[in-house]
Amino acid sequence: MTTPRQLRIFFMPFMSYGHLIPTIDLAILFAGKGVKATIITTPVNAPQISKVTERARNSGHEIQLLVTNFPSVEAGLPEGCESFDQAPSPDMQFKFFKATTMLKEPLAHLLQTHRPDCIVADMFFPWVTEVAAAFGIPRIVFHGTCIFSISATEHIRLYKPHKEASSDSEPFVLPDFPGNIKLTKSQLPDFVKQETWFTELYNEGKETELKSFGVIVNSFYQLESAYVDHYTKVLERRAWLVGPISLCNRGTIDITERGKKASISENECLTWLNSKKPNSVVYISFGSVANFNSAQLLEIAAGLEASGQHFIWVVRKGKKKEEEKEDWFPEGFEERMEGKGLIIRGWAPQVLILDHEAIGGFVTHCGWNSTLESVCAGVPVVAWPVASEQYYNEKLLTQVLRIGIPVGAQKWARLVGDFVKREAIEKAVKEIMVGDRAEEIRSRAKEFAEMARKAVENGGSSYSDLNALLEELRSTIDS
Ligand code: UDP
Repeated sequence: MTTPRQLRIFFMPFMSYGHLIPTIDLAILFAGKGVKATIITTPVNAPQISKVTERARNSGHEIQLLVTNFPSVEAGLPEGCESFDQAPSPDMQFKFFKATTMLKEPLAHLLQTHRPDCIVADMFFPWVTEVAAAFGIPRIVFHGTCIFSISATEHIRLYKPHKEASSDSEPFVLPDFPGNIKLTKSQLPDFVKQETWFTELYNEGKETELKSFGVIVNSFYQLESAYVDHYTKVLERRAWLVGPISLCNRGTIDITERGKKASISENECLTWLNSKKPNSVVYISFGSVANFNSAQLLEIAAGLEASGQHFIWVVRKGKKKEEEKEDWFPEGFEERMEGKGLIIRGWAPQVLILDHEAIGGFVTHCGWNSTLESVCAGVPVVAWPVASEQYYNEKLLTQVLRIGIPVGAQKWARLVGDFVKREAIEKAVKEIMVGDRAEEIRSRAKEFAEMARKAVENGGSSYSDLNALLEELRSTIDS
């Protein structure tokens, strides 16, 4: 038998943690299959990524970085602003996207010099398809979210069912979509309801799915089979589900330094968790982009205290000096919560925490990575969507999979989300941790965790999809 020829694939992640983390995992997954993987990134992002790629190289993977300058200043951003979480206002976000479009030329240069066999690039870079085509290089889209949400957004875009709704709060059903999924207008992104600077980029991103080789998805067939079938057969797109990708990256240091170095040591975190009973701690975190105001943080503190549950709460540090004061904590909160609640300021080792048996629930903004990490850990969720495609993910969790309950957030709002009151937080936390249905929901979550593990094992659906993709790429390139 001849050894199949080695594929050389470029990976181009969007520079936000929710996209960067799974794309690095993806590159490592491919490298584990003998692919020569190259990640394209920018100077500020390079040091963190190179730590991961160096570890992967030490364990025998062929993986490298190519660094290209990011035109922050040219796009009107502060120098060194190369990560989406460093753009904490709609105006800066606009400039950030503008800067990414200026990467066309440097990318063309890299493709011309290195001539990879294929490029996997984020959906936020729709222009990559054309740049790559000029060199005869196939482009694959990486969305970073699930098929359910990719398809739901496409149905909204194509059929605009929200236009028929009489008010912002009147539920409407997603037409011709499996599962009788209901949404309201207020849960939809602003750029869907009216043309904003983002609408064009978003539409191009969706259209790129059809113009590219196909779509790689960080999910697994059993989690959303009806929607995968719908996407491939009804929407007629090509997709390979190769996840949960996070399960491929299981060295301790990869877990504790996922995304960036955690603000708490592994030892301190585990010692605290080890002192708790199984399923007795609720974990609260809203990802890397959401940015709640002081009033909302106060409500979370009050709601958590009233729930009587033990908790780990990740409080993101404010970007401005005055936001670091933390004068929003209720009087004496931290003293009263001593031993009962662990507050992590900054970056938490999320996968390490979720995987611990003490964790019994996760209050999440439903970012897809957090959602899938929760699924992998068999942890049920309190769904608190904020923005992006998170309201769709909420519906998958609560209406389809039934491994979560909604906190009741109703309004999509970039960065800040809807305002949720302490009573709603208390009620939802109690319900998921100790309510009448808690056990039933938890056991369903555990079943999905088992399916996730099997999907990536030898012979599992994601394992087979990845092999099928590599084979197809080889035969396309050789033909
Ligand atoms: N994450 C983490 N520690 C934190 C916050 C986030 O490890 O304190 C990781 C989390 O595990 C996930 C990613 O950052 O892998 C966030 O992605 P997600 O899609 O959930 O949300 P986003 O940040 O894109 O809104």
